[in-house]
Amino acid sequence: MRKLYLDNAATTRPVDGIAEKLMTYITDYYHNPSAVYSDAQKVREDIEEVRYLVANEIGADPSEIYFTSGAAEANNWAIQGWDMANTPYKCTIFLHSYLEHKSIESFSYHIDRQFSRVLGFLNDIKGKIEYADTINTLKKWWRNGFYSLVSIIFANNEIGTIQNIKEISDIVHEHNGTFHTDATQAFGHIPINVKEMGIDMMSASAQKIGGLKGTGFLYVKNGINISPLIYGSQEKGMRGGTENVLGIISLGEAIKNIDYSQNEAQTKWRDDIIAGLEELGCKLNGHRTDRLPNNISVILPYGISSQAFVLTLDAAGIQISGGSACNQLTGESSHVLAAIGLTDKEIGSTIRITLPDMRTLEDKPENLTDRILTEFKKAIELLR
Ligand code: PMP
Repeated sequence: MRKLYLDNAATTRPVDGIAEKLMTYITDYYHNPSAVYSDAQKVREDIEEVRYLVANEIGADPSEIYFTSGAAEANNWAIQGWDMANTPYKCTIFLHSYLEHKSIESFSYHIDRQFSRVLGFLNDIKGKIEYADTINTLKKWWRNGFYSLVSIIFANNEIGTIQNIKEISDIVHEHNGTFHTDATQAFGHIPINVKEMGIDMMSASAQKIGGLKGTGFLYVKNGINISPLIYGSQEKGMRGGTENVLGIISLGEAIKNIDYSQNEAQTKWRDDIIAGLEELGCKLNGHRTDRLPNNISVILPYGISSQAFVLTLDAAGIQISGGSACNQLTGESSHVLAAIGLTDKEIGSTIRITLPDMRTLEDKPENLTDRILTEFKKAIELLR
């Protein structure tokens, strides 16, 4: 039986045809894109084409896109770069939610507490940010003369909950703040328009949409000031280091492959699996409908350990995640699941399924649902 990979929030299989495309940049066009001869200029043009594709995908201008080594770098750059550029002139404060990825959340714990505060109290297990509390927190810091950077994750990587980004960015702008969003799990999965949604800075990663690991980008709206983190001449002096040509080209190929029209079928597949899991006694985490089409996060019944469960399913050829992939090896408990009110025991029993692109399925979704539910039932009976 073929393996069924259901951990697409951790990373995705690179899109078809990518290996052949990338091989050209190893064998023929390996030149440094900053050189002047024609082969190097071809590489430069291809990189700029990807910058255009990224910008076009999110309704930005190509001059607002900077390539990075991924979303973790983009997140760190947005926050630290904004702080470095603005703190000398203004009293600044960084506000973020309890749902942020570790690349934002752990950074905020390593900086001066005066600079960083958590906002965006969550209403309940659904993981939606409470606007009234956000407004009150922003008002308080605004009254104190602080200029804020607010960072709210677009869609959470563990529970899949999608925030109302436009409403949050409006609140931030009404209070004279700058708004950053980590859209790593949303980019390429749900349509994003940075201008219509009022996004000032946005991070994303190629590996979540069929590109290579180690590549991403930061969108910085023209007029928003940030300092570089990595000095050098590339990316208009904003991000030093010879461009990761293979990664950037892979991002372009992944963007060409985006197809939001599959979302309806994926959402139906997701909901059918959720219904089946609930019949087996699992409990859904996160919002039922304001959720990524590919995300399922549930608490297993009978306090079954997610780790044992993941290994049991692996033996049956199904690859899923226990909580978030980033935490699994360190054994750290998930701050996101704790924030939506789960007990330690429930956190230890949470698993995540993240579905693949519907166009890559090797069988009908209903047959795959049967296979997943059959293996879940067997594993629950074995481990209860
Ligand atoms: N933010 C979120 C929400 C993510 O899911 C991830 C990847 N797990 C990152 C940031 C970091 O992305 P990368 O590893 O590509 O830098």
